[in-house]
Amino acid sequence: MLRIDCPCCGVRDHSEFRYGGDATAERPAHDNPDLDAWYHYVYVRANPKGLHREFWQHVLGCRQWLVVERDTVTHSIHSVSFSRRRRA
Ligand SMILES: [Zn+2]
Repeated sequence: MLRIDCPCCGVRDHSEFRYGGDATAERPAHDNPDLDAWYHYVYVRANPKGLHREFWQHVLGCRQWLVVERDTVTHSIHSVSFSRRRRA
């Protein structure tokens, strides 16, 4: 069982969160007409062994989108941060 340390709410069970996908995939520019770039962004994913950055949303808590750095072998979580910088 994963326990995710939400920066807003503290340590919570992963059942409160929704997995949001690979946080390392870079979205092509909005006006990029290259269909291959969009295909890779939408459908092609690596299946890494070891540390991986993932989006998770705390749907049953603060609803913030987070970036969780998780080891895909041991499921240990190395860091949790907001997916966007907060504006001052
Ligand atoms: Zn939270």
